Amino acid sequence: MTKTILVGAHMSIRGGVSMAIERARSIRCTAMQIFVKNNMQWFARPLRSEEIRAFLDHVQRGELSSIFGHANYLINLAATNPQFHANSIRALSEELTRADQLELPFLVLHPGAHLGAGEEVGLEKIIDSIDEVFRKIPHVKTKIALETTAGQGSCIGHRFEHLAFIIANVREPERVCVCLDTAHLFAAGYDISSEHSTRKTLREFDGMIGLDRLVAIHLNDSKTARGSRVDRHEHIGKGRIGLDAFRFIMRDRRFRKIPKVLETPKGKDLREDVMNLKTLHRLAKTR
Ligand code: ZN
Ligand code: FE
Ligand code: FE
Repeated sequence: MTKTILVGAHMSIRGGVSMAIERARSIRCTAMQIFVKNNMQWFARPLRSEEIRAFLDHVQRGELSSIFGHANYLINLAATNPQFHANSIRALSEELTRADQLELPFLVLHPGAHLGAGEEVGLEKIIDSIDEVFRKIPHVKTKIALETTAGQGSCIGHRFEHLAFIIANVREPERVCVCLDTAHLFAAGYDISSEHSTRKTLREFDGMIGLDRLVAIHLNDSKTARGSRVDRHEHIGKGRIGLDAFRFIMRDRRFRKIPKVLETPKGKDLREDVMNLKTLHRLAKTR
């Protein structure tokens, strides 16, 4: 008897959200991440009830132990341009509503980029924005999962302190949780090159944010060097991180119930996902 490992990948919703379930199950994922609408556009028509039902009632939905969302990349809660900021507030509110209709427990979000205004100004703007979004949708149960970032450009979230500060200052911290990304951690400068250093980095995370806030992990290797602050995902074991961090995360009991998903480059046939999942399953087993 095998215990279920919560592992999978980000899946395309091409053809409708329910299609993602079939894609994920075709390569035996037990967890998956999806966008809740086309990632290239700000807004979309609301989900039709048939689409929602096709997703919720899909015969294979129960085979996925964890399904969660990722917000649009256009959203920037720290945007300095008023129109961009207004769009971000509206888009995030709408995406959280869609995620809630699909009964997704959380939506992963990059905190935002301050665009030269400075980290402090950016952080305050993000806090106010999260408060505003939640005020607009009081009954939505889907939480925001803030993702640690690589710190590329003026992106906030590359230090655990940033996420801790946001959580400590929003009005409804119970609606905010956290997603770790291995490639982002590494590019941001955190040491995860060995089991020892990974443990240490996670201890730091636990002290600053708390492992009880952790709801998902993005498993990506990094094309770029540690501390490069450049976000380029690579296949597991083919990048600069090495296998130790992935082996540790796949095996540590504390992460057993945390969904772990790939966001590595791939084509429509999902061949690369199959390869990476095989690597992860092997790391979970071998001594
Ligand atoms: Zn992300
Ligand atoms: Fe990620
Ligand atoms: Fe990334």
